[in-house]
Amino acid sequence: MTMTNKNDSLFSRAQKTTPGGVNSPVRAFRSVGGTPRFITRAEGPYFWDAEGQRYIDYIGSWGPAIVGHAHPAVVKAVQEAAARGLSFGAPTEAEILMAEEICRLVPSIEQVRLVSSGTEATMSALRLARGATKRDKIIKFEGCYHGHADSLLVKAGSGLLTFGNPTSAGVPEDFTKHTLVLDYNDPQQLEDAFKAYGTEIACVIVEPVAGNMNLIKATPEFLQTMRRLCTDYGSVLIFDEVMCGFRVGLGGAQALYGIQADITALGKVIGGGLPVAAFGGRADLMQHMAPLGGVYQAGTLSGNPVAVAAGLSTLKLVQEPGFYQHLSAQTTKLVEGLSAAAKAANISFCADSQGGMFGLYFAQEIPGSYASVMASDKEKFNRFFHLMLDAGVYLAPSAFEAGFVSAQHDDAVIAATIEAAKQAFAQLH
Ligand SMILES: *Cc1c(COP(=O)(O)O)cnc(C)c1O
Repeated sequence: MTMTNKNDSLFSRAQKTTPGGVNSPVRAFRSVGGTPRFITRAEGPYFWDAEGQRYIDYIGSWGPAIVGHAHPAVVKAVQEAAARGLSFGAPTEAEILMAEEICRLVPSIEQVRLVSSGTEATMSALRLARGATKRDKIIKFEGCYHGHADSLLVKAGSGLLTFGNPTSAGVPEDFTKHTLVLDYNDPQQLEDAFKAYGTEIACVIVEPVAGNMNLIKATPEFLQTMRRLCTDYGSVLIFDEVMCGFRVGLGGAQALYGIQADITALGKVIGGGLPVAAFGGRADLMQHMAPLGGVYQAGTLSGNPVAVAAGLSTLKLVQEPGFYQHLSAQTTKLVEGLSAAAKAANISFCADSQGGMFGLYFAQEIPGSYASVMASDKEKFNRFFHLMLDAGVYLAPSAFEAGFVSAQHDDAVIAATIEAAKQAFAQLH
């Protein structure tokens, strides 16, 4: 007689009081099938589920856990801040320190405002761009995710260069008719769009290293064209670096590509696992924010002292000498090891990485667009995911999400992952 699996019983219980049993859809394992693991604790590169099963964690809370889970310095900073009070609704010096760090480290940010989620950051950046330019229309790219604000839950319209349609029920078409959705890494389409609508475009928003359609890197030409067109037409260039900021390298994707955004959205890593996000950029643009200007934005828990303590201590750790070299080297070892294992097993597979972010593709070639990533073998990924999960390796539960390595993923952890993958690939035929 077998005992009930604790993950199964927690999932059944969760579904009674929470829609789908989860507080964010991807956690439900809908894409890969099976029962989500309920996590009880995490440390370094690992977390443990309700059954006491340990996993090597490659989602790192979808990015924030860059220094490893429950890092002693971060935990200590959080405990000390908590003991001084949880929230004041009045300014603190820690918020200044956080703003100073962000302005110093991210090339294009002169002023910044702290918020509590990436969704808030991009939504506010969009409002700022529209307020500052007095224009309504925006451009986004298929496959990029920018949080769940109404005007960003949009897919391409029926024809080329037609405005978009909602991807979620409850989003009025009136809200999305100002959003033009273009193909990622297609500079010509961007040229055509600006030729048609340039003087009406408030902003272009992009993930400069895309991590929400698996990992897809922008080509330099794509980002350079975007920068030039925005400058020429007086549109605001928004880099959504909520995921790639402090993940692909210290100054984010903009430092990597050497391109200045006008506004940047940050999140994930800058909160170190607690809710901190931010948007910032050129001071002349940021002056449009209330209380100075007419663009309204506010938050009861914005710049929360406990969350900021986690963020500040995380940002301190990532500035230790060699941090990103090490992170990048470990991620490279992982993707090279996985690629070699797949090749030995004669599986059509490739992998790519940037800093501490990686992509795994059951495809012949590394994809460069949403359409090409969607054409990868999802069914093979799903089987691979479950084989790896059974072997104690937790990958993102979807073929269309990026993966994340932490600085605590040492050589032994990477080797154990590759060993598990060898066994998994062998069973995939
Ligand atoms: C995660 C993410 C967001 C949304 O952030 P939340 O904190 O989940 O609201 C926005 N943009 C990008 C690129 C992201 O990866």
